[in-house]
Amino acid sequence: MPRGLRETVLTRLRRANQRLTSNREALLEVLARSGTGPLTIPEILAVRPDLAVSSVYRNLVVLEQADVVHRVVAQGGFAHYELVEELTEHHHHVVCSNCGAVEDVPATATIERSVREAARQIARRTGFKTQRHRLDLFGLCQRCA
Ligand SMILES: [Zn+2]
Ligand SMILES: [Zn+2]
Repeated sequence: MPRGLRETVLTRLRRANQRLTSNREALLEVLARSGTGPLTIPEILAVRPDLAVSSVYRNLVVLEQADVVHRVVAQGGFAHYELVEELTEHHHHVVCSNCGAVEDVPATATIERSVREAARQIARRTGFKTQRHRLDLFGLCQRCA
């Protein structure tokens, strides 16, 4: 894990009265290396078959509560895990309602401009000042469409 990332993780875990155990570090490394998007528990176990399923479950709960890991829930309550955006970079997701696949979509300047414009319209109507956003699109992936 890069030093800066490790420091932030340590701070957040300490704040939650938790430690960075070797199993938690292994989990975070798998999530940090995922190139395509958030991973399911079976996908994590495919990378690290040496980890016990029950400990993966327990540690993901701890890491989520410590605000280190974010859970994306797809159709049928199928959970996918990724590092929180403060530890990676801002991006969006597409979530397939048929097969449950969740993929990252880069937040391009054009998309961000459109989202800011949407936020401005909402502010005009409601007075709500948007500070950040999360954009998950639900539908059918290329394979399922
Ligand atoms: Zn699909
Ligand atoms: Zn965005």
